[in-house]
Amino acid sequence: MAAKIIDGKQVAADMRAELKEKVAKLKDRGIVPGLAVVLVGEDPASKSYVTAKERACEEIGIFSDDNRLPADTSQEDLMTLVEKLNNDPKINGILVQLPLPKHLNESEVLLKINPDKDVDGFHPVNVGKMVVGEKAFLPCTPHGILQLLKRNNIPTEGAEVVVVGRSNIVGKPVANMLIQKNDMGNATVTVCHTRTKNLKEHCLRADIIIAASGRPNTVTADMVKNGAAVIDVGVNRVEDATKKRGYRLVGDVEFDAIKEKASYITPVPGGVGPMTITMLLFNTVESAEKAAAKK
Ligand code: NAP
Repeated sequence: MAAKIIDGKQVAADMRAELKEKVAKLKDRGIVPGLAVVLVGEDPASKSYVTAKERACEEIGIFSDDNRLPADTSQEDLMTLVEKLNNDPKINGILVQLPLPKHLNESEVLLKINPDKDVDGFHPVNVGKMVVGEKAFLPCTPHGILQLLKRNNIPTEGAEVVVVGRSNIVGKPVANMLIQKNDMGNATVTVCHTRTKNLKEHCLRADIIIAASGRPNTVTADMVKNGAAVIDVGVNRVEDATKKRGYRLVGDVEFDAIKEKASYITPVPGGVGPMTITMLLFNTVESAEKAAAKK
């Protein structure tokens, strides 16, 4: 039986509609959630991510504070800007677009962000809280994956989950979130990476596979159990002369063959991707609600 294709665009649209209502309620109380976006330099991919994030903010009524700095910005100036945003009551979330130019110390900048405004969920305070199961801003892509599972009624409780990839932004946090004792967790999780022996053996056991390797076809159909759910996080460009731009986007799994035996599968694009920005909006609204409750 062919898999159900998980429609990330639809789940994201549903969540954004819910967030829009929350923003309207805050506005009734005179509060406008604010997200500060900091972009250093002219990297085209970073520029387009930032534009997409700002546009998404506007769509649901979040005020976006655009901070574009030249590529030769000093560490000191960047730290001063972050400090200013930390102290600005109009700003509920601060997002520093990564990667930063090479001369800047990324971890020092991320550490400087007030954890209460760390809507990317990358500050060690939020990472630590997440690991010990305390309330924290959850990192956007892993949280988006859990929402896709939840909103498609794919149970994680008691499920065998194999995560392929152990990065700090996807693999490690999603594995951590799935082992938490809560309604989005309670899974039995195996994390695989390039030193894993026999990836296929691990994957074949999985009720849910989360592929975040950054390499096309890391997971092929012979590695997937019948009826498993497959979440493809990867975004890879492969040459394609039939396309005007000369390439197309593919994920990390062999989509066409796997969809014939899986129960659920996410497409690329249109699966995990739309969820990442949505969860950034989610964290920003949550931060504004928290700040409003303190007033
Ligand atoms: P990353 O930092 O490059 O990490 C890749 C991980 O996969 C590493 O842990 C690596 O193992 C492992 N790996 C690579 N090839 C493997 C193989 N053949 N077998 C087993 N493990 C393998 O990548 P990332 O930042 O986590 O991103 C992963 C993918 O998700 C990328 O395509 C990225 O573009 C995409 N992504 C999408 C979104 C979205 O919003 N849709 C967000 C973030 C990332 P080692 O640790 O041993 O090297």
